[in-house]
Amino acid sequence: MKETLNDKKIEELEQIFVENGYPKFRAKQVFRQIHVNKVNDFNLMTDLPNDLRNKLSENYSIDRVRKLEVFESKIDQTKKYLLELDDKNIIEAVFMQYNDRKTICISSQVGCRMACKFCASTKNGLQRNMTASELIEEVYELERLNGNINNIVIMGIGEPLDNFSNIKRFLEIITDEKGRNLSHRSITLSTSGLCDKIYELANSNLDVNLAVSLHYAIDSKRQKFMPIAKKYSIKELIKACDYYLDKTKRRVSYEYVVIDGVNNTDEDLDSLTKLLKGKNAHINLIPLNPIKEFDHGKTKKKIINEFRDKLTKNGINATIRYSMGEDINASCGQLRNNYAR
Ligand code: SAH
Repeated sequence: MKETLNDKKIEELEQIFVENGYPKFRAKQVFRQIHVNKVNDFNLMTDLPNDLRNKLSENYSIDRVRKLEVFESKIDQTKKYLLELDDKNIIEAVFMQYNDRKTICISSQVGCRMACKFCASTKNGLQRNMTASELIEEVYELERLNGNINNIVIMGIGEPLDNFSNIKRFLEIITDEKGRNLSHRSITLSTSGLCDKIYELANSNLDVNLAVSLHYAIDSKRQKFMPIAKKYSIKELIKACDYYLDKTKRRVSYEYVVIDGVNNTDEDLDSLTKLLKGKNAHINLIPLNPIKEFDHGKTKKKIINEFRDKLTKNGINATIRYSMGEDINASCGQLRNNYAR
C-alpha cells in the first residue's frame, strides 16, 4: 500500500520531502494543490517539475472517493451521492442548500456497528473505518461537484467517534488555515454517545459543534433501542456533554427522534425536562423517517409540534429539524451502504 499524502500536515509533508531528497519548498506547493486547488492526481500538479510528479505518483497516493450516482430531490435542492471508494465499497453523502448556505452531510465509516434499531446505516454492521484520506476526499469530491460548501455535518453513515483517530486527523487537516481553512464552528459532529471519546474530543482543541443522539431520557428505553446505552448511562452521557460545554464553550445539541407513543409520553417529557432543565442545551426534534426494518411510521407534524410546545412550556429550548431529500431516501437515518452492484 502506498502512503497517502492528502492527510499530511505541511510539516509532515516537508519532512517526507526532505527525507526523500525532494526540495522542501515543493511540499507547500503540493499541499496547496491538494487542499486549495483540490487536485487529487500528482500528474496534474502542473507547477511541479515532471520528474517530481512521476516520483510522487510512483510512491504515494490519495485515496479516491468517486461519484457513482447522484439522486436529486424534486421537493427541495437536496442531492444524495453514492460514492465509491478504491476497494469498491460504497458510502453515501448528502448535499443540501438553504438560501445561499451549502451544507454537506458526510459518512464516517463503511457501515456502522452501533446497531440502533431505527437506523438504516447499521443494518449490515461495520465493514471498515474510512481513512482520513478518504474523509478529506469525500468533502473535496462534493465541492468539485457543487462549489465550496459552508458547513459540514458528520451525520451520515457511521459513528464518527468509533473512528476517532481518522476523524481527528480529518478535522485537523480540513481546518488548517493554510489549506481548506474551514472554521471549526462550521463543523458539527454527531455521536450516539461514546462518552470516553467525547472527553477525548473535548480535550483535543478541535472545538467542533457536538450533537448527541439522545432520543430517550429514560435508561431502560434507551437501552432497548440503542445498544450503546447499555455501556453508558444517560447520567454519564450528560456529564460528558457538560464537560464538553465547559471545555469548549460550545452549546451541545441533543437530537431526539420523536417516535409517537414510544418516546413522547408524559413520562418521557418529564424525564427529558428534568435532565436538561437549566442547562445551556438545545434539543433538535427530528421526525422519525421510516425504514423497512423498524415498524413505526413517519412522525406526524401535529405530534412533533405538540411535543415541542410542551418542552418549550417547561422551559426547554427545542426546535424541529424537518427532513430534506425525503423522496430520495436522503433524510436522517435513511442512508445505507448496501447497494447491490
Ligand atoms: N452515529 C452518529 C451519526 C449518525 S447521525 C449518531 O448516532 O449520531 C444520524 C442521526 O439520524 C442520528 O441522530 C440518528 O440517531 C438519527 N436517525 C437514525 N435513524 C433515524 C430515522 N429512522 N429517522 C430519523 N432520524 C434517524
